[in-house]
Amino acid sequence: MPDPTGTTTWQHFIGGAWVEPADGAYFDSTDPATRRTLYRAARGTAPDVARAVAAAQDAFERPGWRDLSQTRRGHLLRRLGELIGEHAEELAVAESRDNGKLLREMRGQLAALPEYYHYYAGLADKIHGSTVPASDRRVLNYTAREPLGVVGAITPWNSPLTLTTSKLAPALCAGNTVVVKPSEHTSASGLRLAELALEAGFPPGAVNVVTGFGPEAGQALVDHPGLAKISFTGSTATGSRIAAAAARRFVGSTLELGGKSPQIVFEDADVANAAMGVVAGIFAAAGQTCIAGSRVLVHRSVHDELVERVCERARTIRIGDPLAEETELGPLAFEAQREKVASYVDLGRSEGARVLTGGAATDGGLGGFFYEPTVLVDVDNTMRVMREEIFGPVVAVLPFDTEEEAVRLANDSDYGLAAGVWTTRLARAHRVAARLDAGTVWVNTYRAMSPMSPRQGFKSSGVGVEHGTEAVKEYTRLKSVWINTSEEPLADPFTMRS
Ligand code: NDP
Repeated sequence: MPDPTGTTTWQHFIGGAWVEPADGAYFDSTDPATRRTLYRAARGTAPDVARAVAAAQDAFERPGWRDLSQTRRGHLLRRLGELIGEHAEELAVAESRDNGKLLREMRGQLAALPEYYHYYAGLADKIHGSTVPASDRRVLNYTAREPLGVVGAITPWNSPLTLTTSKLAPALCAGNTVVVKPSEHTSASGLRLAELALEAGFPPGAVNVVTGFGPEAGQALVDHPGLAKISFTGSTATGSRIAAAAARRFVGSTLELGGKSPQIVFEDADVANAAMGVVAGIFAAAGQTCIAGSRVLVHRSVHDELVERVCERARTIRIGDPLAEETELGPLAFEAQREKVASYVDLGRSEGARVLTGGAATDGGLGGFFYEPTVLVDVDNTMRVMREEIFGPVVAVLPFDTEEEAVRLANDSDYGLAAGVWTTRLARAHRVAARLDAGTVWVNTYRAMSPMSPRQGFKSSGVGVEHGTEAVKEYTRLKSVWINTSEEPLADPFTMRS
């Protein structure tokens, strides 16, 4: 929606309409590659959140949604997937401009996104309870899976629509309504998604988006008593605060948090492939992904070869405009994120790590927030660069001597999101996969994802499941109904029945 200053201004999307912020405040969203202002978005506060939750509650209770057949709910999800497919290019460009990730990467994500809606479209009329064989044959006991109500979805900037979809698609599939608070750095694509949901036929209020800052709009959403569930992706620190707030109100939360994922390269691995896997795990998306393979554990006998291959590729990575086809590494999403990455590399140096390549900020010739692909060696697993999520193109490499040691080092982390294993030995692949404390284990591949495959963070990496059939359960409650089919007088009222 253009305004007289020539800058696009986005309002909140509430109850199927564009709604101005209650206190009239807006904020600028900037392009991290050039620092230019892209658009203004509404700066949401508690009254905006209250309005959105009320719209979602109203939609949840209306017969048009509540009594809609599950099959027709599936049709709406299918239609939304189709519309996303039709607008994929526009959405990919919007996301690439907003967060600086490569257009190629965002195009790939947007091309895959309809599959998520189609998967949950197919699941919508397969959600049901069961009949339970009660001890007393005159009693009919059945269960029903019911939607929860209004779901609050708080999402980060690194893969905005993909991570929103991980929540939105199963939540709608189960019959809930949703209020999304996207990251302040990436408001545009979520707003377009809500608009497309309305176009797909979802009733007004089924999908609402309140934009703004975490401590204002996000916190107000978390604190709203009308929420039946909170689903969050982001940092472990914010996730922990959100889980505590949810627990105080006995509201469930699904949390997809940070990681410090190990990539284990064994002596029997195809080292050229493993090096490509390491590069894919940490330099793709400029390392701004929860599943970044930021700790490389490599058998001493192939350490030098692997490091050489990774450094060689890192040095030739083309840094530049994320919209350009030839670019391989875009900027970090915003200035503070680049400062964070730079300060971790400085910290690593002061802890004794050696920078083999990279290790400096650059403006990419565009004035943006770029950071060179960086490889650290001479690290040990106690250093902060090995324990904390950097969320940038920085990988640390540590040698090991035995399989036992590799597994111990891999599991010696507060996080447990993902792990990579590079080996040509089948028995070792299964053995190590079974022993790793990680919700996702990739063997001879990395960063593979599918709507069908559940993912769960272990330890500080999260709570609850996203994707697959399991994710739908996160957005339902289970009711048990007992019906006495006997018309005989009730016996002794002082004993429990079965
Ligand atoms: P946050 O976890 O703070 O932000 C994620 C989302 O939560 C955003 O929508 C944010 O809004 C919102 N938020 C922030 N504070 C609150 C709050 N008090 N109540 C409710 N919502 C809130 O991550 P950051 O964007 O600040 O990034 C910091 C670090 O977190 C990164 O460097 C990275 O290490 C990690 N991270 C991990 C991600 C993952 O996928 N695992 C994704 C993003 C970050 P807003 O953006 O407006 O502040």
